[in-house]
Amino acid sequence: MVNARFDAVQKANAKEPIMATAPGKETSQYYGCNVFNRAAMRKYLDEDTRRTIYETIEKGATLDKSIADHVAAGMKRWALDLGATHYTHWFQPLNGGTAEKHDSFSDPRGRDESIEKFSGKLLCQQEPDASSFPSGGLRNTFEARGYTAWDPSSPAFIIGDVLCIPTVFISFTGEALDYKTPLLRSDAAVTKATSELLALMGMPGEVVHSYLGWEQEYFLVDKDLYLQRPDLVLTDRTLLGHVSSRNQQLEDHYFASIPPRVMEFMKDLEFECYKLGIPAKTRHNEVAPNQFELAPVYETSNLAIDHNLLLMSIMKSTAEKHGFEVLLHEKPFAGVNGSGKHCNWSIGTESGIGLFSPGKTDGENLRFLCFMANTLKAVYDNNALLKASVMTASNSHRLGANEAPPSIISSFLGTQVHSAFEELLKSKDMVKIAGKKGYSLGIPQVPELIVDNTDRNRTSPFAFTGNRFEFRAVGSSANCSGAVTILNTILAYQLEQFIDAVKKKIAKGSEPLRAILDETRETYRACQAICFDGNGYSDEWKAEAKKRGLDCESSVPVCMDEYTSKRTLEVFGKTGVLTKVELQSRKEVFWEIYCKKLAIEAKTLCDLVTNHIIPVAIRYQNILLENVKNLKEIYGAKDFKKIAISQMDLIELIANDITASETEIDDLEALLDKLDDAGEGRDTAVTYHDKVVPLLESIRSHVDSLELLVDDQMWPLPKYRELLFIH
Ligand code: ADP
Ligand code: MG
Repeated sequence: MVNARFDAVQKANAKEPIMATAPGKETSQYYGCNVFNRAAMRKYLDEDTRRTIYETIEKGATLDKSIADHVAAGMKRWALDLGATHYTHWFQPLNGGTAEKHDSFSDPRGRDESIEKFSGKLLCQQEPDASSFPSGGLRNTFEARGYTAWDPSSPAFIIGDVLCIPTVFISFTGEALDYKTPLLRSDAAVTKATSELLALMGMPGEVVHSYLGWEQEYFLVDKDLYLQRPDLVLTDRTLLGHVSSRNQQLEDHYFASIPPRVMEFMKDLEFECYKLGIPAKTRHNEVAPNQFELAPVYETSNLAIDHNLLLMSIMKSTAEKHGFEVLLHEKPFAGVNGSGKHCNWSIGTESGIGLFSPGKTDGENLRFLCFMANTLKAVYDNNALLKASVMTASNSHRLGANEAPPSIISSFLGTQVHSAFEELLKSKDMVKIAGKKGYSLGIPQVPELIVDNTDRNRTSPFAFTGNRFEFRAVGSSANCSGAVTILNTILAYQLEQFIDAVKKKIAKGSEPLRAILDETRETYRACQAICFDGNGYSDEWKAEAKKRGLDCESSVPVCMDEYTSKRTLEVFGKTGVLTKVELQSRKEVFWEIYCKKLAIEAKTLCDLVTNHIIPVAIRYQNILLENVKNLKEIYGAKDFKKIAISQMDLIELIANDITASETEIDDLEALLDKLDDAGEGRDTAVTYHDKVVPLLESIRSHVDSLELLVDDQMWPLPKYRELLFIH
């Protein structure tokens, strides 16, 4: 019998790199050529229209609808000139991906004529049938309408022959059905509060935004091997598979030279990024074999998130071209590092001042400490919610091991900033912050080395890294809007509280800067418990975190409760980011997605074990039995046992694993039958977490043990050692 796995492995190993089609030109010559950016607007829009659009983009001013027709006309001409035939509103429903429905520019006139049509009305608003997108009960089927509305702050772009227009997605009754709407609201909230506080510091009129630099980690697997793994195809992760004897122990993959096949993929990917104005900057091998990272230069959060979603989709199509499949799942392989999407988040002014950047003067450093203390307090007060924003079925496999942060939120500040705060607690006046240090290396040809004022702590979920916080708990497949919206919102709320307290102090006669300094000290004092610089994996930390009142819940469905806690309703209500109804619906959607993902995993595992694994294990067991029978025939009933003892042991081991997995598959199937009729709310999600997940793990352990016992020639699925090493 031909083993399909052997064929696929042979094919994969024989593959040569497919040379990238990226041009030999300098990047600057084609950067953003498929984006309706300023260069395109200069060519296709008149000056008045441009001025209005820039106001909207830069200052968040409401768009004057009368210019929409002008913009649409210019945008259409530009798109047609680049060969586009269709347009779509491009939006981000709560299922985590992006959605688009293409309409042709072509509009028939009479019987045999047509013109290209696109109006301001079509640019600004559309009404896709929303009934199949998750809404968490917000929409009954009889009022299935949903509307998409143009977001002028993120530029339109062309992919293939389609003009894509970034939009928000809302229900008939005006509730957010997507990720972008609350993100934009949260950016407005943080902008408002920050500008007000800056004005109190003597910096009026600043325009503020939140900024984001994500780092996208991913795995690449050869496409032929991928197709041999139904679990990868259907669930994006391996549900079975014994760890390879060599994986990442030697730490020889991290930053190592990039395999030639992968290098060509990366070149093409970057080419696609640059055409779409995605500022890809860094590429490297990650820690696990076949794991890689791409990081761009940071941008305003809204744009950065659109770019990340675009990247995830062009990664898939580019990988296809190179004979790879890209895995964005947080833990596609057990036992090696998972993939995250570190979110480097900061707030700053359009004039270029980073509010998490220490400065040179006392004034600048007071501003720095003030925004730091407020952020820490916001994270402390809302640590359970911040964690809920990253808890998904897939990310829960990653958190808590292999360099990923644990599922307890704390913040690492680094020695300098930590000691500045400690000193502030003791002092009445402003304190000094140690700047960057210079070290002489004692090597004459090498100049002095300037080191940052923070060290690194790879496992901290929310680490300060010099001018930003790096939220590392976010998963690689996530729409990071979920996390960034919460960061912006909790900070906006906290800043409002801070401003109120400062104003009270001023009313009682305090100087504004003195009031800010005193309130900064009090704010930090109240949230010190969130700061932790040690090992996040240790049992001592778990006990200590509990004592400090931090949320230690690790069940995904239970964490979702926080979306409608009294505190969350207050924070989101006051800032106007999400209403109670919207929060409730999000929670319902997350439970529903959790149930669906686990149901698919469980059913896939049942099929795999029943149809792929057990038949092979039985076939091998029969070969062994035949062998024992033959030995008995030749050596006689008295002597054969001595010779056949290890085969007989093996038969027993195999029999035990077969029986155990079959019994548990029966249990699982019975449970799934019940859950199929139980709805997809909290109770079902909790049962999936408490009962189904442990069964999946236990069944896996028996099958992984069989993998080591059964003849390699017969094993039907590509093994970890075959999936994980691209040359
Ligand atoms: P790491 O050392 O954590 O792997 P990388 O260099 O891969 O860091 O990525 C750091 C990310 O942080 C980049 O996207 C970078 O543009 C971004 N970044 C730098 N400064 C800021 C800032 N002030 N605000 C937000 N993001 C920032
Ligand atoms: Mg990082």
